[in-house]
Amino acid sequence: MAANRSSFLGSTPFNFWHQSTVRSPKTRPNVRVSVVKSESNVRKQDIVIVGGGIAGLATALSLHRLGVSSLVLEQAESLRTTGTSLTLFKNGWRVLDAIGVANDLRPQFLEIQGMVVKSEEGRELRAFNFKQEDQSACSQEVRAVERRVLLETLSEKLPKDALQFSSKLSNIESTSNGDSLLHLVDGSKLLAKVVIGCDGIRSPVAKWMGFSEPKYSGHCAYRGLGFYPEGQPFGPNVNYIYGRGLRAGYVPVSPTKVYWFICFNSPSLGPRITDPAVLKKEAKKLVAKWPSELMNIIECSPDETVSRTPLVDRWLWPGLSPAASTGKVVVVGDAWHPMTPNLGQGACCALEDSVVLATKLAKAIKSDNDDVEIEAAFRSFESERWPRVFPLTIRANLVGSILQWENPVVCSVRNNIVLPKLVSLGPLLEHTNFTCDPLSATSSN
Ligand SMILES: Cc1cc2nc3c(=O)[nH]c(=O)nc-3n(C[C@H](O)[C@H](O)[C@H](O)COP(=O)(O)OP(=O)(O)OC[C@H]3O[C@@H](n4cnc5c(N)ncnc54)[C@H](O)[C@@H]3O)c2cc1C
Repeated sequence: MAANRSSFLGSTPFNFWHQSTVRSPKTRPNVRVSVVKSESNVRKQDIVIVGGGIAGLATALSLHRLGVSSLVLEQAESLRTTGTSLTLFKNGWRVLDAIGVANDLRPQFLEIQGMVVKSEEGRELRAFNFKQEDQSACSQEVRAVERRVLLETLSEKLPKDALQFSSKLSNIESTSNGDSLLHLVDGSKLLAKVVIGCDGIRSPVAKWMGFSEPKYSGHCAYRGLGFYPEGQPFGPNVNYIYGRGLRAGYVPVSPTKVYWFICFNSPSLGPRITDPAVLKKEAKKLVAKWPSELMNIIECSPDETVSRTPLVDRWLWPGLSPAASTGKVVVVGDAWHPMTPNLGQGACCALEDSVVLATKLAKAIKSDNDDVEIEAAFRSFESERWPRVFPLTIRANLVGSILQWENPVVCSVRNNIVLPKLVSLGPLLEHTNFTCDPLSATSSN
């Protein structure tokens, strides 16, 4: 590779850059272009990943496995330690295998065997076994993983200086040579050759690229994590309870923890409630007459694990939505394609994105004409990933709308005919088929 290549393999403090802003007719009108000259407080970094969530850390680790260094900027003071768990299907596990963290996680989280669906009166409507339903070559693997543990496990495998906390991006400017000047809220600046926006549903990077705000789906979810110090009593199944305009679910995470959620219709986002005790009370009120085990799990949930989230998504209409990349800036995970959690695929797809993007980027960086190749790699990332994430986003939204039906006749048909007699789980899980090879420094050559 050309002279640039070695700089991608390590970060260099850069002390002689200075910026003055001009407009370039060659760039999009809303992107400010800066000519960067000498300035002492601008540090140079080849690859900057904005956001230290699942996508950001998985992308950094994928690049690291491919022998390419990057810097992750996370706005928070530490990794997110709050929150509950995420159900990861086999596509998520294939990525975690490829980047070498799956076997650290597996012993900590129970393998879920199947799914049981009940009515609000507690009548079993249908039970499925994941492995029996999934006839594909690679058998199903489902585990609910604590987000905190997933983030810690990913970050522990990164070099110590690869993750920088208290580093909130406030603004981006394009420079005349196509690099990006990143302004952080603490006043510091970074000049980056490549920017990967992994900054979640309210992504400032996506906003800068012209993406619209995610759209509210009309449903909100309460979530929490029940804690049973003496051991939780549930079998290894995902349990769903379907009511009218209301549904709930719980899934054992580990021998002592059980994740639960309640999804309810709400025409507006409602007031922002942050007091966890109030949230817990509200959640319990919704399912007071439902099967008692749900109430018990909520009662066993420490206040700090309970949260309420409006469910949002963004549909990436061809020709209407901006491209996933502008020059050498690209968006990944929720920053690009926020989807409602009805299929349990947001984090799984963020993981898939990470490994696909990192493989293409690592190859481009090692080429002789890396600037051109990086932009081409990002376009190729979008071409490969858009047909995967766009239909899934729509499908997740439609599934949510169907499951949140309020009409009593429709709900009765769903519970008494569709679910017991017509639904087959296998085709509904086809989207979890995804393969990728283990990443190593030689695999991008
Ligand atoms: C109720 C609910 C249930 C879900 N259940 C599942 C599930 O079971 N399975 C599944 O696969 N997915 C699930 N998801 C989806 C999953 O949570 C997301 O898809 C996943 O977290 C996306 O990861 P991300 O890294 O793209 O974004 P995030 O996890 O949001 O991470 C973004 C990071 O960027 C940081 N950041 C933001 N702005 C800045 C800034 N300006 N500067 C620096 N850093 C910044 C944030 O602090 C954060 O750390 C669920 C989502 C919800 C809402």
